[in-house]
Amino acid sequence: MTLVLHTRARLRAAMADAARPVGLVPTMGWLHDGHRALMRRARAENAATVVSIFVTPRQFGEASDYTRYPRDTEQDLAICEAEDVDIVWLPAVEEVYPPGFDTTVSVGAVAEPLEGAARPGHFDGVATVVATLFALVGAERAYFGQKDAQQVMVITRMATDLALPTRVIPCPTVREADGLALSSRNVHLTPAERAAAPVLRRALIAARDAYTGGERNGDVLRGLMQETLANEPLAQLEYASAADALTLRELQRIEGPALLSAAVVLGTTRLIDNELVGPAE
Ligand code: AMP
Repeated sequence: MTLVLHTRARLRAAMADAARPVGLVPTMGWLHDGHRALMRRARAENAATVVSIFVTPRQFGEASDYTRYPRDTEQDLAICEAEDVDIVWLPAVEEVYPPGFDTTVSVGAVAEPLEGAARPGHFDGVATVVATLFALVGAERAYFGQKDAQQVMVITRMATDLALPTRVIPCPTVREADGLALSSRNVHLTPAERAAAPVLRRALIAARDAYTGGERNGDVLRGLMQETLANEPLAQLEYASAADALTLRELQRIEGPALLSAAVVLGTTRLIDNELVGPAE
């Protein structure tokens, strides 16, 4: 039986009684197989699993992006039940940000480029809500998708710097058969945009394959992604990046682990994806 809780007080009380260790999966709902993979991993590695479902207004730059974010609580709860999740935390906005809430967790350099530059304030919103979640749940582990690679880096930096007891576990990106990364936002794609969307993955694979073939010039790798995306008239490039996998600084020459990443807009839908290359740390 999945316990569905709505308030900080009930969540705290439930966590005091929970079996340990606890695995936490923070989500914004509209759950799909990518979220399910995180839940399964949490279930396999912990005695209790907690899923949070909360669309935080603070991490959306534009109000319209927040209000149109897809929501289906009934379906989400059915998925959590099917995945044997112990506790779902489904708070109202004022439960996460009670009156007087006036703290922002702001991570430094690693939160600045890429998504941080494209969506000002986004990572402050993410870090603040995840810090609150980590404090309330007190999980031993929290599971995040590598699809949002920079988010993993930002949260890991925050957890390390603030000595939070929750370990951040990155999990592989789950994809459709044609390579498109699963995302709640894919629901907004028109059929033509959906057909065009795998170009993002193709662009990253073109750069990855060039890297594997010996190409180490950052401009060439970024150029390959740009060229691939330019061939798809429905896709508008936001950025194509070949950056140091630890600092996210753009690289002229790839010598260590690197994060290839790109963001595109198809119609009104923004999609991101990435690929890690280079020697494992
Ligand atoms: P979201 O609900 O989009 O905020 O995502 C909640 C968590 O699920 C984040 O850690 C995401 O990185 C992760 N996630 C989203 N899509 C995928 C995917 N296709 N594969 C793996 N993890 C994902």
